[in-house]
Amino acid sequence: MRKPFIAGNWKMNKVVEQATSYADTLTELVKKEGIDHDKVDIAICAPYLFLSALKVIFLLRGIDVGAQNLHYEDEGAFTGEISAKMLHDIRVECCIIGHSERRKYNGETSEECAKKVKAAIMYDIRPILCVGETLEERESGNHLEVVKKMLLESLHNVTGAEMVKTVVAYEPLWAIGTGKTATTEQAQEMAAYIRSVIAEKYGKDVADRVIIQYGGSVKSSNIKELMEQEDIDGALVGGASLDPEEFIKIIKYDPDIVCKNVKMIPINRNK
Ligand code: PEP
Repeated sequence: MRKPFIAGNWKMNKVVEQATSYADTLTELVKKEGIDHDKVDIAICAPYLFLSALKVIFLLRGIDVGAQNLHYEDEGAFTGEISAKMLHDIRVECCIIGHSERRKYNGETSEECAKKVKAAIMYDIRPILCVGETLEERESGNHLEVVKKMLLESLHNVTGAEMVKTVVAYEPLWAIGTGKTATTEQAQEMAAYIRSVIAEKYGKDVADRVIIQYGGSVKSSNIKELMEQEDIDGALVGGASLDPEEFIKIIKYDPDIVCKNVKMIPINRNK
């Protein structure tokens, strides 16, 4: 049984006061709505600057804190970088790796992503590895091939045990921040394909345990339909995660996620 995982990606948004007031509001909403932490994992992936403050507010509230990138070396002459070791030091639980915006604007390669995935796992940080195709690649019918190549290169040297801990986010580039969501059929087709590629490399037992998220203009009005797809286990949410009122609606996409006895201590992801 794969546990749903809804993660927000704030990208480069907010200042400290907005970040902490959002965190207070989301914490209250999660409590008020009675979100059952045994049924859904929640994370906010925020700019580095806010991570420590978010950790304090979200502590024991069932909301994980994530970064949006990391460096695979522990330390050294890498000006401006933050390592997995440093994120672990402040107990960051997850980290986006290989987001298409980083691949595009920062020249991040799949080879580097593979090193980042391994570094994250070494420091007990859950990697959210992003893969996806451009509109041209989809329109030319190469989307499956493109995603397979990106996925396998980004998993170079990643073992089966590490794969189980890795979340894969399928994010078609043409759906990110455009308001244009992939159809549920397109999203399911690719999620199932990603699982089959993982199964080919690591075996079905591993593939069946990997959490696959969909990302690309997810909002409260389309989350339910996406989550009903067999191979979609979660969502990576950009724009719609910036408003806590909208984000909580996404988190409780299924009435079953709400319980009467509110649990303050979350954790076990592996059920
Ligand atoms: C993202 O940033 O990963 C993303 C999917 O953005 P949006 O939800 O805004 O399309």
